[in-house]
Amino acid sequence: MTPVSTRGGKSGPRALAILGATGSIGATTLEVVARHPDRYTVRALTAHTSAEPLLALCRTYRPEYAVLSGSAGNAALGRRFAQLGCELLFGAAALEQVASESGCHAVMAAIVGAAGLPATLAAARSGKRLLLANKEALVMAGPFFMRAAREARCVLLPIDSEHNAVFQCLPLEGGEVALRGVRRIQLTASGGPFRATSLERLAHITPDEACAHPNWRMGRKISVDSATMMNKGLEVIEAHWLFGLPAERIEVVIHPQSVMHSLVEYLDGSMIAQLSHPDMRVPIAHALGFPERIESGARALDLGALGQLTFEKPDHARFPCLRLAYDALRAGGTAPAVLNAANEVAVDAFLAGRLRFTGIAPVIEETLAHVAGGSGETLERMMQADAQARRVAAAQAERRGMGRAA
Ligand code: NAD
Ligand code: MG
Repeated sequence: MTPVSTRGGKSGPRALAILGATGSIGATTLEVVARHPDRYTVRALTAHTSAEPLLALCRTYRPEYAVLSGSAGNAALGRRFAQLGCELLFGAAALEQVASESGCHAVMAAIVGAAGLPATLAAARSGKRLLLANKEALVMAGPFFMRAAREARCVLLPIDSEHNAVFQCLPLEGGEVALRGVRRIQLTASGGPFRATSLERLAHITPDEACAHPNWRMGRKISVDSATMMNKGLEVIEAHWLFGLPAERIEVVIHPQSVMHSLVEYLDGSMIAQLSHPDMRVPIAHALGFPERIESGARALDLGALGQLTFEKPDHARFPCLRLAYDALRAGGTAPAVLNAANEVAVDAFLAGRLRFTGIAPVIEETLAHVAGGSGETLERMMQADAQARRVAAAQAERRGMGRAA
């Protein structure tokens, strides 16, 4: 598989579509964009159902299009957006429309979950410069997504801080990341809020506790994924597709301070890492400006004040989701799509108070045992596996509901 490509990367004023504009990555992207009015214009902003926050963003950034993907048409609402010179579109198909229309140069894919796949894929297919935060889309449809990006000569830039770090530490040859001389990559992980919590206590963790990440402020789904370390598991699969490395050449190391964002290890024993404060403005500014460097608003590190950085090996007994993700990557075919779908269902059930924190991994494991096995030779097959996994995982979550043993 061709690794992430930057062919055709150039700077200059760009019209941006921000998918998931009302979320954490969406808001941070707009913060960086606002620092560079000479470089970027906002062409389209999307949200799922939060109409008022979207309207407020449109008042500030004046895009041509706004999308409410989870709402049916509403003429009165449309008029309020029209007063700002903005056309309001409704429904999921409008996401693909704004991600691929000719007036848009770059797309920030920051919808959470597999729901982001069609629009992210549409952006890749139409050869946009694609800033990829929506890791679930890549986990679910890696081979199809990377093929589409390659065929359309899409400039694909990772936003996930670890992948952005790896990208920064790899050489580019002819516009593509080069793996010659690379032994492996190491993805750093904070270990989340429960790195040192007793295993007995984990069964009683509340959604708010799970979402209180020690270093990053993020959306609720990725916060829970960080607490279970499924986030790192998804990132291992994401790294496999972006950089074309097998599972055994992608390692995870716990680094509680979240200052070193990942490392590339070379054959001669050198390791190159990227460091910054844990602040998503850094990878977002890197990808927006690439190949130039632009100001992000983040301070540089004061290493003397920081004192020390620590590292440890991940505890697989505490974090079974990490092992499940490696297993799914090694199994291949539809297994990563099944893993991702089951995780989305289990995390939803946990956030809704219907499943214990310690019930998340067993729901995923059971779902993988019931559904995986397909070769996933077409995108349709992947989508079917995703749908089937959601049904099985929902039944598993119900069976393991709060009242019963997790
Ligand atoms: P979030 O929950 O804060 O925001 C999600 C956005 O997606 C919102 O704008 C919401 O309206 C929209 N959305 C939700 N469901 C949708 C649906 N079904 N259809 C269309 N739009 C929908 O999430 P986030 O933390 O910003 O994360 C976004 C993506 O970026 C995720 O894939 C996450 O893994 C990835 N990511 C986030 C961070 C971070 O720091 N937050 C870091 C790395 C990667
Ligand atoms: Mg990350």
